[in-house]
Amino acid sequence: MNNGIVSTIAFKCKICYSCIRECPAKAIRVLKGQAVIETDRCISCGHCVKVCSQNAKQIQSNIDEILYELIPKNNVVAIVAPSIAAAFPELSSKIPTALRKIGFNKVCETAFGADLINPVYEKLFEESKGKTIISSPCPAVYSYIQKYFGELTENLAPIVSPMIAMGKYLKLNSEKEIQVVFIGPCAAKKMEFQDEEVRGAIDAVITFVELKEIFERLKINFDKLEESELDPPFAYEGKSYPLAGGLLKTAAISSDVLNKNVIIVEGKNKVEEIINEILNKKINAKFIDILFCEGCISGPAVGSELNYYSKREKVINYINDKIHLVDKNVWKSNIYNSRDIDLSRKFPIKNQRKKMPSEIQIREILNRTNKLTKQDELNCGACGYFTCREYAIAIAKNIAEEEMCLPFLIEKLQLALEELKETQEQLDNAEKLASIGQLAAGVAHEINNPLGTIMLYSSMLKKESQKTGRNNLADFDMIIEEANRCKNIVSNLLNFARQGRLKISRVNIIDLISNIVRSCSINPSFNEVKIEIFDELVDEKIEADYDQLKQVFLNLINNAREACEESVQKNITIKIHSNEKNIIVDVTDTGCGIPEENMKKIFTPFFTTKKFGKGTGLGLAIIYGIIKMHKGDIKIESKINMGTMITITLPKIINQNTIMSIKENEYVS
Ligand code: ADP
Ligand code: MG
Repeated sequence: MNNGIVSTIAFKCKICYSCIRECPAKAIRVLKGQAVIETDRCISCGHCVKVCSQNAKQIQSNIDEILYELIPKNNVVAIVAPSIAAAFPELSSKIPTALRKIGFNKVCETAFGADLINPVYEKLFEESKGKTIISSPCPAVYSYIQKYFGELTENLAPIVSPMIAMGKYLKLNSEKEIQVVFIGPCAAKKMEFQDEEVRGAIDAVITFVELKEIFERLKINFDKLEESELDPPFAYEGKSYPLAGGLLKTAAISSDVLNKNVIIVEGKNKVEEIINEILNKKINAKFIDILFCEGCISGPAVGSELNYYSKREKVINYINDKIHLVDKNVWKSNIYNSRDIDLSRKFPIKNQRKKMPSEIQIREILNRTNKLTKQDELNCGACGYFTCREYAIAIAKNIAEEEMCLPFLIEKLQLALEELKETQEQLDNAEKLASIGQLAAGVAHEINNPLGTIMLYSSMLKKESQKTGRNNLADFDMIIEEANRCKNIVSNLLNFARQGRLKISRVNIIDLISNIVRSCSINPSFNEVKIEIFDELVDEKIEADYDQLKQVFLNLINNAREACEESVQKNITIKIHSNEKNIIVDVTDTGCGIPEENMKKIFTPFFTTKKFGKGTGLGLAIIYGIIKMHKGDIKIESKINMGTMITITLPKIINQNTIMSIKENEYVS
């Protein structure tokens, strides 16, 4: 993103939202994990710089331009703001020497520019005819009005600032071409001097913070510097400009506390307030002097550790020290000779106001951020907006993000935490199953061969016994039956271990389940059981491993049958339905149900509640593995003595990248 006057230092930003809260223009939003300033919306007031505890906001630096481009031209005049006394409290009288030492040809005071515009203000005030005039030397204030309150641009005094007036004066009164550099406490001045309406008066702007850096870089030793005076023209009362109400004093506009025609406003919150008051026509004052900071002495780049009152005192002392040095006659003639300088300017509207969203949009956003009722609107202000409604409007205007709402974020985090816990449990389970699977595969493989031998030899021996007519046939049957059971267990174990591989084809799940049910119905163990299928699908197929899914539903139906053994009603209902992405199968029985304490154990391999010799405890473990391999899900609802419903959810399409063993030619449609 294009960096404006103020920007974020990405790696320092900890997204604490304090800048967003502070920004009067709502020009900051969190994008990709950092608070980004939208240049077009920014008014360069620099409040975000002041509040950032991480020093993650920076004001554009023009140090290199000053040192390596302008100063080498050898015709550069520095004009310093009167708040220099607050920025360099003990050194202000050595500053002119220091500036000359680093290469400025002349050092003047901007305050003379304030003296120049005073008569223009006085004239405007006299001629205002009831219209409220808003002072315009503060670039953050006029920019705020231009961008967000276009209808008030007409009220802005159409007069240049002291900085521009001084630049114009110096250029007009210099025989040769000069470059004028303004040095002050303000970030917005860097924007102002580039305004089309005043371009050319000033060539560069640096802040007191930058000046300090220059002194450090060039190793200026103040101990070795003499004190010196500024270059003329000297200012008179214009020096008090950086203090709130300074303009009124300079322009001899009464600011008597009882004079309701005049209002002095300083500080961001009060600026917002007064602008709304003027807009709502609640105020009829003739003149409103507005500064975005609490006086320029509180500017974002004043670079002073002093508190407001100390800074104010330093500036007042500085003014009083110097003011008696001014030769009033020289000053008057300077002002008189400057009467033809054009000190007017315009303030075109630069609208950044966004369209108001509809009530429906606002409501929808409030709902989305869990503010369903008035009580849910906490208006905690953490997002930077006074009310949840204002915040929702900002989201709709695309200048705020949902994640900026702290209560909403906490709720989201809690949910994510719960989800994480659940996933962790599933992961633990899957790991357990995987290691058991490996063990099982090894054991099964080793047992399979001797088992085959036992079965083969016992069958042979049985046949021989039949021939010889010996009556130990029942013993052989017993051996064969038990060996068969072992074979079943082994085959289950192998299935369990083999889950890691899927052979995907397009499977018609209704056909698959219908086939299983058909084969069950001819099995005597299902004699008393009623199985019903309800399907709501319209010829839908899913990508799945046919054999493995067969095993899933066979196991589920067997479990359901076994659960119904003691029940009067022996019903199994299979419901097949779907949503946009999944096919869902509910297998419900009217069996014994699963006690709460067993719920967590039933997927554990070898967990069985069935009689010795009946259950292996591998059915659900195998099902679980197969379903998870298919990226599906399994859920159980059960009530003791009422029955159990097992819900299998299978995605219609499996992401092929996640399954390694599928070959293109294994696809059948
Ligand atoms: P097995 O069927 O060999 O016992 P499973 O892994 O298939 O092993 O099932 C584990 C246990 O889960 C069963 O022993 C039984 O206690 C319980 N169970 C599974 N399905 C049901 C069901 N539909 N109704 C009641 N209990 C069930
Ligand atoms: Mg089972």
